[in-house]
Amino acid sequence: MTSDAVARDVAPFAMTIAGEPVPTEQTFGVINPATGEVFAESPDCTAEQLDLAVDAATQAFRQWGRDEDRRRRAVLACADVIEAHAEELAALRTREQGMVLKDSLRFARRWPARIRDFATIPIPVEVVQDDDVARVELRRRPLGVVAAIAPWNFPVLLAMAKVVNALIAGNTVVLKPSPYTPLTTLRIGELLCDVLPPGVLNVVAGGDDLGSLLTHHPGVSKISFTGSVEAGLQVAAAAARDLKRVTLELGGNDAAIVLDDVDVDRVTDALIDQITFNCGQVCIAVKRVYVHEHVYPALVEALAERAGSLRLGDGMDPDTDMGPLCNAMQVERVTELVDDAKAAGGRAVTGGQRPARPGYFYPATIVTNVSDGVRLVDEEQFGPVLPVMPFADVEDAVRRANATTYGLGGSVWSADTARATEVASQLECGVAWVNRHTRTDYRVPMGGWKSSGIGVERGVQGLDAYCRLQAIDVPKT
Ligand code: NAD
Repeated sequence: MTSDAVARDVAPFAMTIAGEPVPTEQTFGVINPATGEVFAESPDCTAEQLDLAVDAATQAFRQWGRDEDRRRRAVLACADVIEAHAEELAALRTREQGMVLKDSLRFARRWPARIRDFATIPIPVEVVQDDDVARVELRRRPLGVVAAIAPWNFPVLLAMAKVVNALIAGNTVVLKPSPYTPLTTLRIGELLCDVLPPGVLNVVAGGDDLGSLLTHHPGVSKISFTGSVEAGLQVAAAAARDLKRVTLELGGNDAAIVLDDVDVDRVTDALIDQITFNCGQVCIAVKRVYVHEHVYPALVEALAERAGSLRLGDGMDPDTDMGPLCNAMQVERVTELVDDAKAAGGRAVTGGQRPARPGYFYPATIVTNVSDGVRLVDEEQFGPVLPVMPFADVEDAVRRANATTYGLGGSVWSADTARATEVASQLECGVAWVNRHTRTDYRVPMGGWKSSGIGVERGVQGLDAYCRLQAIDVPKT
């Protein structure tokens, strides 16, 4: 089945405000990246409708914040509803975002488990003093209305992590997906009306302007934002105006350091997965590789061979290995960075040329003969392209890996785990993996160092970011 074959039966989409479906007069087209054609219309939220969404969340907060057991039950019911609609949601995601359907399905089937995991994170009560003078407990209280703003690369996973954390902590939410990928999120908003009280989760859709209106809204107490560094800076400035709490999960330029004793086949498999899964549009994917000169020629050859054999195609086609990039802006950016690298003397040992076909396709590309100082190495390409660079000295590789304003993730690869762990601990980033990259777990807080963000999501620490502390001080005498 191709995307075009299913495009005709796409339902009209509505926003969810106060538990009701809300259509809009204005809409905007959502493009299928496999064809480059509009296949559905998204509602476009007005400023007045945004006010209604924040008002609904404010009203709902009064009750929602009070009963933790009820909240956890309702969130678990959300997981059941999403599980029952996994196939529909996965196909919709592939159509609006491009991910290969088998991966979309794998992810959609994983969302319910993730929601259930997040729903079990405890909200601790700490006793910080208990003596003759007083008993003081630290309790976590909800903040109020949370603005959750999501990007297009993982429209549901990232949004639901925010929503579930916010709801479990007792907040209510206004959720805004990316204008490139609003549909799956809108559909989830509709579906969850059956299990969440009205106003607890409101889903609005619109462009970056709507995001800006939301972050400036006086009714919002906290912003949880995932997206680019550029937009993150604007969100931080908006939050500063009235001291809204803010969590920023921003871009990255993760380095992988490959030591001299690796199993080349194993590392090849892992690196190919990094650039092909979701077409490399993963914030915590490997975006540059430093390889010890002893294994460099063998690794480059293996990477080129594997990358060159991948079949590009519509994500709905079961024969496709790698789908399109999500949007025109992204494929143009990837093309520009590879062209710039070639102009600087870089060599695409495979790929490196946008195919002449409709849609936003770019082949898996391995680039050599580049180094730090070239844009493809220094910037976040967010696509199926990997610059691979040799090193002779591990200390030098670590220095180059850290010579960036980003600090999301990084990894070290070696047959000697202890040695790799020691090198990984020198990386300046929020998560340093050994012999893998990108693994996440709901218990492990994730957040960027430097310009990659402020605060963390996931884990008890991530839940904390949706709470404010209150000390309850009871005298003993
Ligand atoms: P983006 O910043 O363009 O947009 C993200 C969201 O913010 C969208 O919903 C957009 O409409 C909204 N937005 C844009 N400008 C805004 C503003 N001034 N105020 C409020 N909202 C605004 O990002 P993108 O292109 O959708 O996503 C790709 C980026 O996201 C990459 O840099 C990637 O690394 C990053 N990302 C980071 C993580 C992480 O966990 N650190 C996860 C996924 C993606």
